[in-house]
Amino acid sequence: MKIAVIGAGIIGVSIAAEAAARGAEVTLIDKNAPGSGTSSTSYAWVNSNGKEPVGYYELNRAGLEAHHRLAGTGADWFRPTGHIELAATPEHANELQHRLERLVQLGYEAAGISSSTANELVPDLIVPEDCSAAVYFPHEAHCYPTLYIRHQLQRAKQLGVRLRIGANVESFEEMTDGVNVSLSDGSNIVVDHVISAVGRWTNDITAAAGLGPVVAEYQEPGDVTVGYLAVTNPLPVAIDRMLTSPKLNIRPDGGGRLLLQALDLDVTATVGSVPALESDLAKEFIDRLQHILKNTENAQITELHVGVRAMPADGQSVIGAVPSRPWLYLVATHSGVTLAPFLGSAVAAEVFDEPEPLFDSFRPTRLLDSYPHQVLAAPRQPGQQ
Ligand SMILES: Cc1cc2nc3c(=O)[nH]c(=O)nc-3n(C[C@H](O)[C@H](O)[C@H](O)COP(=O)(O)OP(=O)(O)OC[C@H]3O[C@@H](n4cnc5c(N)ncnc54)[C@H](O)[C@@H]3O)c2cc1C
Repeated sequence: MKIAVIGAGIIGVSIAAEAAARGAEVTLIDKNAPGSGTSSTSYAWVNSNGKEPVGYYELNRAGLEAHHRLAGTGADWFRPTGHIELAATPEHANELQHRLERLVQLGYEAAGISSSTANELVPDLIVPEDCSAAVYFPHEAHCYPTLYIRHQLQRAKQLGVRLRIGANVESFEEMTDGVNVSLSDGSNIVVDHVISAVGRWTNDITAAAGLGPVVAEYQEPGDVTVGYLAVTNPLPVAIDRMLTSPKLNIRPDGGGRLLLQALDLDVTATVGSVPALESDLAKEFIDRLQHILKNTENAQITELHVGVRAMPADGQSVIGAVPSRPWLYLVATHSGVTLAPFLGSAVAAEVFDEPEPLFDSFRPTRLLDSYPHQVLAAPRQPGQQ
C-alpha cells in the first residue's frame, strides 16, 4: 500500500511512522520544516481534563494513555509530572468542584488537595491569599513537541518513510490506479491513500480535493484560533509540574525556562503580529509570574509567540476518510499534542481497514455536509485550552 502523509507536525509524523510500521510505503510531505507549524507553539499539556462531551473525553483519555505507553519508563519528550489547579473566585472553585466530581466518576485520576499539599508539590508556589480550592491531577503530563517529533521522524526514517520537505501539496487527480498528488516543485507521486495532517491548513487540502472547509479560519484578534505563549529566561524556581493558577498557567520548558499562558490576555492575540519582548504584555506576564512563584526576581520574557490553533469549525476533532473521495483521509484537531500517539496508531489502523470506534463521533462528513458558521467561544477560563 502506498500512502502520502501531508504535514510533518506532531500528528503527521506519528501517522507516517505507524503506517510504515504496518508495512506501508509512506511518503511524508511538508511545505516547511518538520514541526514548524502549530506544533512549535503549543502549551503541550497532555490531558483529558475538561473535555466534553464524553466521546471527546474518551478520545483525549486514549491520547493520554498512549503517551504514557509510548514513553514507557522514560522519554525526553514526555514529562509525566502531574498538574495542579488552584481556584480563587467562587465561580472557578464551583466549576472546578463539578469538573472534579465528573472526572472522578469517569475514573480519571484527580483529588482535591490542601494548599499546604500544593506547596509541597510545588515548593516555590506562593499560594494566593484568596485560594479557595486546589485539585491535583497526578496522571497528567506535558510534552516537548519538538523532541517528540524528532523521535517519530527518526523512527519513520528507520522504517523507510521517504521525506519530501519544502514541497507544498497543490492538487490531486483521481486515476484508475490511485491518486496523483502534485507538488509545488513540479514533481508528483501516485499513491493509494492520502492522509492529510496539515492542521490549520486543512481547508487548502479539502479545496484541492474539490471539497468545502472543515476548520475555522482566523477572523479577528482574540478569536478561538489564536493564543499567546511566553517563554522566560532560565530561572532557579522549584517547580517541576504544570500549574494552573487564577491568573497564569505555567509549565517547565526545559533548562529552567518556564512556558507561560494567560487566557484572559489572549483577547489581543493577532495572527502575524507578535508583541515586543519589552511590551506591556510581556511585563504583565512577568508581574503575574512573580506573584505566584518565588525565585523569579530575575525573570524576563525571552520569547513571545502567537500560536494559531488547528480548530475544526465545531470545536471537535475531524478524523476519518471522506466517503466521496475514498482515497482521502482527514485529520485536523485541537489538543493534537495530547492525541498524537493515539492518532498515529489508530489512523494507520483505519487505513488498513481496522475501524476505530472512538473516532465514530468525529467523522469529517458532518462538517463537509454542513459547515457551521457560528463563532466558537475562545478558551478564557482556567483549565481550558
Ligand atoms: C496556544 C496553543 C496552545 C495549545 N495547547 C495545547 C495543549 O496544551 N495540549 C494539546 O494537546 N494541544 C494544544 N494545542 C494544540 C496542538 O498544539 C495542535 O493541535 C497540534 O500541534 C496540531 O498538530 P498538527 O500536526 O495537526 O499541525 P501542525 O503542527 O500545524 O503541522 C501541520 C504541518 O502541515 C504542513 N502543511 C500545511 N499545508 C501543507 C501543504 N499543502 N503541503 C505540505 N505541507 C503542508 C505545515 O507546514 C505543518 O508543518 C495548542 C495550540 C495552541 C495554538
